[in-house]
Amino acid sequence: MTQSFSELQLSPNLARAIAEMGYESMTPIQAQAIPVVLQGRDVMGAAQTGTGKTAAFSLPLLQRMLKHENVSTSPARHPVRALVLLPTRELADQVADQIKQYAKYTQLRSAVVFGGMDMKPQTAELKKGVEVLVATPGRLLDHIEAKNCVLNQVEYVVLDEADRMLDIGFLPDLQRILSYLPKTRTTLLFSATFSPEIKRLASSYLQDPITIEVARSNATASTVEQHFYRVDDDDKRQTLKQIVKERGVTQAFVFVNSKLGCARLARSLERDGLKTTALHGDKSQDERLKALDAFKKGEVDLLVCTDVAARGLDIKDVPAVFNFDIPFNAEDYVHRIGRTGRAGASGLAVSFVSGKDTRLMADIEKLIGKKFELEALELEADKRPAGHFNDGQRAWRQQGGEDGEQRAIREARASREGRSRGERRPYGAAARVPADPLFDKPYEPSLAPDEKPSWESQAKPVPSRLSPNIKTRKKVPALFKAPAPADSV
Ligand code: AMP
Repeated sequence: MTQSFSELQLSPNLARAIAEMGYESMTPIQAQAIPVVLQGRDVMGAAQTGTGKTAAFSLPLLQRMLKHENVSTSPARHPVRALVLLPTRELADQVADQIKQYAKYTQLRSAVVFGGMDMKPQTAELKKGVEVLVATPGRLLDHIEAKNCVLNQVEYVVLDEADRMLDIGFLPDLQRILSYLPKTRTTLLFSATFSPEIKRLASSYLQDPITIEVARSNATASTVEQHFYRVDDDDKRQTLKQIVKERGVTQAFVFVNSKLGCARLARSLERDGLKTTALHGDKSQDERLKALDAFKKGEVDLLVCTDVAARGLDIKDVPAVFNFDIPFNAEDYVHRIGRTGRAGASGLAVSFVSGKDTRLMADIEKLIGKKFELEALELEADKRPAGHFNDGQRAWRQQGGEDGEQRAIREARASREGRSRGERRPYGAAARVPADPLFDKPYEPSLAPDEKPSWESQAKPVPSRLSPNIKTRKKVPALFKAPAPADSV
């Protein structure tokens, strides 16, 4: 199998761009896909972002488009020849960026169109003519309807992240777009999974494709230091801030499971003085691109995001990843922490496990074949600074620094608990609830020993065919497996 780019005999202009990007040898998906695509075969590829799949389809695409290279200013000389379809704006933007870099020493024009942005600048670019068009399906249809582009000269089409496009409900849009394309063309389909729907899509639109699968690795890099902390939901934010401070974390991804949780957490961390931005499906296009850009430039320290918003984003070498929420799906754990500790660099992955998450943690351990110890972290707010005392509400006050009212409250509380001022409750002991005579009274049964409580005497008699030892089951309206929250995008 070909391993070096030099063996591909790509045009010197493409080879130069690749060399400038620092690529030396091909990744497995590139080594398998590029030679067959150069021969004009259709490909069905199972590969995810991070495997080098963008170059795997873009380089042979550009090589084959070079025959159309020209410097004419006439739009008619630059019809769309290659179309790359992606499910989200961020992915489209990222792929278009890479294509621009690979093509920078050629005369081929490329452009990207996606929703949530003004159509006018996109229209102007399309009207000038582009050979390679990267697009999200909905916006592309808008441009087709507005007659800003025609697709009858497309020779090459890529359906990237096809499984996700179907998940989002793009199938009808895809079918319409594909109906505008010439029948004779090269079609590539990339998908993380080959579900029956994907296979159906492939059999309808690909001709005799070669299937390429790059083994999906569930292994986590040995360079990533993984920690699981037992943390109550209410303490997660405090724990996060403390670890960031203690470990000197400069930048991190913070994963949460819902859009709402994502926005809330980002806002409160920002209020706490941490440079934070949120990335989730409800952010406007402009906000999402700005957030990513700020993180890439290092202007933001914490990027709080949901899995779907972050999936596929090419941000690597993040020093740390926090699983503020344990992912519902163990495979997402592998993807999340795969963003740190890349290429031999050391990384830190910290996961917060609250009581309800133990099963999810077990799923992760099973998937990656490793057992982890559930660690405990003493929160700074729980440590006893010298000269301070804990009022039982996790608030540390300086002795003498409180006002009269605060002192009165504290002393009244201490006297109820039978402690004098300065006497401390043992560390970790729960604060006592305020005294209430009802609770202080000794227990006195209110019923005579054989008397039945009122609710039992009113209960319906057990049907006679049932043994009195068998209790009828309480009816529960429905027992479904708890689904992921609807807003987990
Ligand atoms: P992708 O899976 O296409 O999103 O690529 C992930 C990252 O790998 C991108 O930043 C690419 O620039 C980079 N990359 C792609 N191919 C190679 C290669 N052969 N050598 C080094 N880096 C690569």
